[in-house]
Amino acid sequence: MIELNLDDYIRKVPDFPKKGILFYDITSILASPPAFRYCIEKMTEIYKDKKIDAVAAIEARGFLFAAAFAFNMDIPVIPIRKKGKLPGVTLARKYALEYAMAEIEVHKADVPRGKRILLTDDLIATGGTLNAARSILVEGGAEVPEFFGIVGLPFLNYKKILDPTPVTTLIDYYSE
Ligand code: AMP
Repeated sequence: MIELNLDDYIRKVPDFPKKGILFYDITSILASPPAFRYCIEKMTEIYKDKKIDAVAAIEARGFLFAAAFAFNMDIPVIPIRKKGKLPGVTLARKYALEYAMAEIEVHKADVPRGKRILLTDDLIATGGTLNAARSILVEGGAEVPEFFGIVGLPFLNYKKILDPTPVTTLIDYYSE
């Protein structure tokens, strides 16, 4: 694997989507085949010898990494979507965002009972989304032994809400 500095491929956009937020944009990783390949190869290296039966990801940027990883690992990919997008029978969870409520869903039939699911997103901020996603996967009878994000913002304390499950990220940032 060619080592590269992932920071060079993450666009930082101040005051997006609102004033005071520094947005870490991963579309610049997707625009660079070596950077995208680096992320997928790193994920594969980290998890290839761990017993992971499937990967789940959060709409929409999380899908891009999880789908490539699933293809590489030859495992199923389970999409977790915003409310109202999935046509089948779903498991759903409401959770609090900073100023509003959100709701995510997964197809009940896609959650493999008794299997170990790696739960991923592009970026982990407060961990609220992944925590809600974990609860619907567990409700569906699966285990979530690991969380993964390309980017982590540990100063937002995601480890506390995701505890005791280990969280792995490829790069962390320490300011808003
Ligand atoms: P959270 O539930 O707080 O961990 O938020 C995670 C979701 O919000 C992820 O899907 C991220 O893509 C997005 N997100 C939150 N904060 C940022 C940020 N500073 N830059 C980019 N994406 C963010």
